[in-house]
Amino acid sequence: MPTTQKDPSMHNNKPLRSLLAGALLAALAMPRFAMADDASAPRAKNVILFVADAAGVSALHGASVHGYGEPLKLHIQGWPHLGLSETSPVDKWVSDSANGMSSVVTGIKTRNGVISQGPDAIRGSRDGTPAKTILEHAEERGLRTGVVSSQSIADATPAATYAHSNDRRKWAEIFTQVFAPRYGDGVDVMIGAGRAKIGEQLAGVGTGFDTLGATHGRPVRASLAEAMQAGDVRPLVVADSIDVRQATLAALDILQDAPEGYLLVVEWDAHTDDVRKGLQNLVDFDRLMAEVEQRVDLDDTLLLFTADHSFGLQVDGGERGQPLLEGFDAWKQAQAASDADEDLVRLPNVLVNRTHTAEEVVTLATGAGAHRVRGYFPNTHLFQVMLDAWGWTAE
Ligand SMILES: [Zn+2]
Repeated sequence: MPTTQKDPSMHNNKPLRSLLAGALLAALAMPRFAMADDASAPRAKNVILFVADAAGVSALHGASVHGYGEPLKLHIQGWPHLGLSETSPVDKWVSDSANGMSSVVTGIKTRNGVISQGPDAIRGSRDGTPAKTILEHAEERGLRTGVVSSQSIADATPAATYAHSNDRRKWAEIFTQVFAPRYGDGVDVMIGAGRAKIGEQLAGVGTGFDTLGATHGRPVRASLAEAMQAGDVRPLVVADSIDVRQATLAALDILQDAPEGYLLVVEWDAHTDDVRKGLQNLVDFDRLMAEVEQRVDLDDTLLLFTADHSFGLQVDGGERGQPLLEGFDAWKQAQAASDADEDLVRLPNVLVNRTHTAEEVVTLATGAGAHRVRGYFPNTHLFQVMLDAWGWTAE
């Protein structure tokens, strides 16, 4: 290692040359795996992964037009780094949330229905090899971790971050893993919905929220307000429904104190079965991401947005100045009055094929390490993007 004194470039007083020499020294001090990528890349201390469930390219476009009357008006559409993430499971083209999210958070593609286990799993009957999640890596390294979901906290997308199961429907098995982390002390802040159904499944195996909370000294609160009132430092909230914005900002308040940094994962449902609800959720999620961006330092924080899979939504008509979702209310009323749950929804400007679809989804990124999001890639690459942002190796 050259010393500053013996480096000849440091002896002439040209600022540019000494600046370059300083950069070289800094580069030499970086571990080799970072050099292989690019040495000057800023390291992330914190990573926030935003997952809009089922939001494909067309959903982002639709949300912008629905929310603002023009394309390209979403805040995240201004983020500088863009890639297209391929979501298929190992044996099919179309992914569900279980495989889609497992692939993103473990770097291993698996089978639909399987939660963060390898493709050697057989759904519902045989466990596969547990795949270590990015949250487990963060826990192992002493970071603080958080998971927020608009959906059941035991549903596939949030579950993939903290649990391993051969079947996404096993909510009791999934939820109880909150109390038996494989690394660190497990998820530090968890706020989600699904209280009734998780409670039912827990009762089916002879336990419940109160029993689990008492056994492990970590009460399971029924609302965020209850957790805040109790002053929980590691709040665990399973509510009937949550306010995602409020939950995310509360989680951030706790995580941002972490000396070693943090990982926060936020899921907001954007399925467009109900096209107005799905697009509005995405508009609201986008506003939340803008708000979160204001609260973090992009020099040490990576913000990643992606989806676990796409959805059959097409904008195939409409005019500027007219509402995109013309005819929605009439469709909604007709649907409420009928028993039929049709697969195709034909509105004047929008066609919804109410199913997951196989094409790549958008990944947008900003902040430390965001430059690694570019081009087409399998969704497993996003696991590597997060590891690389922190400068970690998988094992
Ligand atoms: Zn999904």
